[in-house]
Amino acid sequence: MAGEDHALARRSFNEWARQLAGCRLCRNLTLAAFAAILAIEVAILIPSYRNYEEDLLNERVDVASQAVITFLKHSRSREITIDALELLIASSPLTGVSLRRDGIEYEAGEAIRMPHPADGLLRSAPRTPQGTIDLSWGADPLLSDYEVLARVDVSDVSSELIAFVFRILGLSLLIAVFVTAVTMFVVDRMMLSPLLKLRDRISRAGEDAEHPLKYLTPTGRCDEFGEVEGVFNSMLKQNAAYLSRLKLLNRELDQLLEERTRTLRRTEQELKIRTLYDQLTGLANRSLFEEQLDHHFSDPDHGGGEEAVLVLGLNDFQALNGLAGHETGDRVLQEIARRIAGFSANHGWVARLGGDVFGLLVGERGRASTDIEVGISAVIEACQRPVQVGRKTFECEVSAGVAVSGLDGLDARTLLSHAEIAMHRAKKSPSQRVQFFASEFGDQVLHRQELIHSLKAAIENRQLQLYFQPQCDRLRRNTGYEALLRWHHPTLGPVSPAEFIPLAEETGLIVKIGDWVLEQAVATLKGWSEQGFTGRMAVNVSALQLHDPGFADRIAVSLRNKGVSARQLELEITETALMQDIELAMATLNRFRELDLTLAVDDFGTGYSSLAYLKALPVSRIKIDRTFVTGLPDNEQDEALCRTIINMAHTMGCEVIAEGVETEAQASWLALAGCDELQGYLLGKPGLQGFQGTADADDS
Ligand code: C2E
Ligand code: CA
Ligand code: CA
Repeated sequence: MAGEDHALARRSFNEWARQLAGCRLCRNLTLAAFAAILAIEVAILIPSYRNYEEDLLNERVDVASQAVITFLKHSRSREITIDALELLIASSPLTGVSLRRDGIEYEAGEAIRMPHPADGLLRSAPRTPQGTIDLSWGADPLLSDYEVLARVDVSDVSSELIAFVFRILGLSLLIAVFVTAVTMFVVDRMMLSPLLKLRDRISRAGEDAEHPLKYLTPTGRCDEFGEVEGVFNSMLKQNAAYLSRLKLLNRELDQLLEERTRTLRRTEQELKIRTLYDQLTGLANRSLFEEQLDHHFSDPDHGGGEEAVLVLGLNDFQALNGLAGHETGDRVLQEIARRIAGFSANHGWVARLGGDVFGLLVGERGRASTDIEVGISAVIEACQRPVQVGRKTFECEVSAGVAVSGLDGLDARTLLSHAEIAMHRAKKSPSQRVQFFASEFGDQVLHRQELIHSLKAAIENRQLQLYFQPQCDRLRRNTGYEALLRWHHPTLGPVSPAEFIPLAEETGLIVKIGDWVLEQAVATLKGWSEQGFTGRMAVNVSALQLHDPGFADRIAVSLRNKGVSARQLELEITETALMQDIELAMATLNRFRELDLTLAVDDFGTGYSSLAYLKALPVSRIKIDRTFVTGLPDNEQDEALCRTIINMAHTMGCEVIAEGVETEAQASWLALAGCDELQGYLLGKPGLQGFQGTADADDS
């Protein structure tokens, strides 16, 4: 048991020693203490050594001097003999002696050569190689008035001094070791152990950063170490505070994240709805419609009865929008959408395809009716019932295109595009409200696409030309010309503007083409003016050009560059184009007025016109459409219409020009009715020459 205790104590001592030795701080501290103690001891040793040496020498010299004094006291009465002196040398540390008095000298032993006063510092007296010092004592009553010279043996002093040094060094070492051990013990108690504990605490607190308060300890000490512990404790408390704030922030962040995710999901859903449904009517949009139809047509259960895709477009909706305002237009569209939706069995089978165009699946499954034609008629009839918006009632006409499943296509995309082509067909022929798709329509679409493609390069390829058709007053005197665009296609030959202008309008190409036309017209006008032409040039303008904010200024620049007066240029715009989105065109129309540019309302009588607007616009001329002139002078309806237009225009302060005048009868009737000017084949066909040519070239 005692052995075990012993072993345990040894182990813990070894550990402690290893710990101390491993601690750089303690090692340096104890080494420094050890060195300092040694240095102090050495510093003390040097003067002690000197004193001790002097003491030893004095002791030897004292013994020698006592021996000489005793010898002289005994010899006072007797004669001094050499033998007596020899005896003195043998019995004392003296190795040689010389006595002198009254000129008598007695000598024995070694000869004395370097006498040194005996009362001087013995340490500095010269020594013989045998370790003796030569001394001199002056005549003294103690020495019976003898002058004494003596050689004293001090050879044993060196060995005694060496022993002294060793003794002192051993003692110093012992003291140093003891002090070092004590220092080590104190350092361990006061610094190393607490330091290691603190280090351990810091590293554990670092590893377990989530529970800083677990590592708090009371600070018992009032020294710097206690301060360090205090600082660490306050750091732990601060960490705990940060941690709880961090946790709080984290929780808030989590909540925020959750909220954001929810909002994101909601937005995503809304976005999905927005991308699939039309915002205004709530009906499916084109992509959802196509997807649903595809899904339906690929279902093996479908195909029991005949089905068709019906595409419906409102006629003259743009005019309604322009005149009654977009808000009313939107309400009309919502109502029509509601009526069409009533015929659908599935919310994905009815859609707003864009603008005023709707799509619907009719037939067996589409539920409109088992018989397609009956179903379509019902839908159209429902759409054409008057729509009440506020106090106003609007009559809507629709054009419909139909593509029969299986016959006109198998997939949704084909059926839809065929039904749309058919609908456009129906729109073009006012007598036919419903048009079933026919395969030749497809060829027409291809032809259309080819035309668009080559129209894009028509200006660069110099395929466009301006023809000029004369306009005359009632006395058939020329008042001006209308510029009419011609396109000579390299393979198709001349393409009618009635065919390519709508294409250019649909594709936006009309803006670029229109600029070219205006530039050409102004350049021609300048040429003519130089040759004395004072009349005007009418140039046709499309709705899209009016919506172009830079349009009016480009005309002004062109006129200024060529030095042509704005009064000589008249812009012709059809009644329908003018009334469509009039608010949008207002900026350009006001700019026309500022620039002194005037407008002629083309094809008057074929669309809706708001007289209030007409009055507010810089309109100088109304052009009666050709279709009303054709019936003159026999068709009563046309007569009444022409007369009304002429009167109304005059009341508004506008002049009237009738277009498409082909016969003398038409010309005379119009002149009599008060029409100011005439234009038509009777007065001249459109030709290249214009002002200078007396014989206009043929249009064809
Ligand atoms: P519009 O402005 O109503 O032009 C009159 C059209 O009637 C011209 O057809 C002209 O050749 C034709 N015409 C003139 N007198 C008679 C006649 O006595 N009898 C008959 N049957 N026809 C007559 P065109 O040149 O084929 O132009 C068709 C339409 O193309 C024009 O109708 C106009 O709306 C448009 N257009 C022509 N050139 C331009 C242009 O430079 N820019 C724009 N935006 N449109 C143009
Ligand atoms: Ca015209
Ligand atoms: Ca016209």
